[in-house]
Amino acid sequence: MLRLKKGIDTCIFLLSFTSLEVNYSQWSLDKHPFYSCNRCRNPVALRDNLLSKAFKAHSGQAYMFSEAKNFVLGENKVRQLITGRFVVADVYCNNCGEVLGWKYLKSFNVSQNYKVGNFIIEKAKVLKEYA
Ligand SMILES: [Zn+2]
Repeated sequence: MLRLKKGIDTCIFLLSFTSLEVNYSQWSLDKHPFYSCNRCRNPVALRDNLLSKAFKAHSGQAYMFSEAKNFVLGENKVRQLITGRFVVADVYCNNCGEVLGWKYLKSFNVSQNYKVGNFIIEKAKVLKEYA
């Protein structure tokens, strides 16, 4: 009986740990500014991970982040950008499906390798928020 109870407790602990992970507890724990989806307010990137504001996308200015959250990636595709050819994947909000920007997956030009793994998020698609 005791053994069974212990098992249940462990299960509950694991479940709550998993749901914490899904809810990105770190977003509410640290009081850092972040960017959220303009359409549904889903938090998608932390100000701390902002690398540059000097990017251009279809809609105008765009930001480069080292990390993003709460997104899904589209298919890999080769895209010719101003600075060269890249393999990229579109970045979608995982809540409302809005296209927020893209992620660099591969560069065909060594001088552009620093972008690989980073995210471009269009300024017009996000809101800056303060936790
Ligand atoms: Zn959204």
